[in-house]
Amino acid sequence: MAKTAETKTAAAKAAVAKAARGTRTVAETEKIRVALTERRDELKAEHDQTLVEIAELQQHRLTDSAGDDQADTGTKTFEREQEITLANNILERVNQVERALERLDEGGYGWCEKCGNAIPVERLAAFPSATLCVTCKQLEERR
Ligand SMILES: [Zn+2]
Repeated sequence: MAKTAETKTAAAKAAVAKAARGTRTVAETEKIRVALTERRDELKAEHDQTLVEIAELQQHRLTDSAGDDQADTGTKTFEREQEITLANNILERVNQVERALERLDEGGYGWCEKCGNAIPVERLAAFPSATLCVTCKQLEERR
């Protein structure tokens, strides 16, 4: 008997969580979209800038390589690899934001994966790849 009641409560809670989805207003969704779009443009500009810098540095290295010994060449290769890693990281973040924008259109973005509550717009703007609300995130980190 008690067990049935418990199950019902859980089911009711799930239903509430489900019903809570889609309650975000159009204005809020727009706010998220604007924040995500701005973030994507920022990151894209950063990525472009990094690529330009890599090209410039590489050019500089090539013209400056006369008299390099093996250690110099090794350092330059290492530097170049680090720059490329940095550029790839930025690109990965661009992709994350673009996936978020796609999911926003589908209505599957901005809801906590754990409790189903809406993740605050401010949090999404700061962390476009956030999939948990602040409460659930804190619980997760405490574990
Ligand atoms: Zn949550």
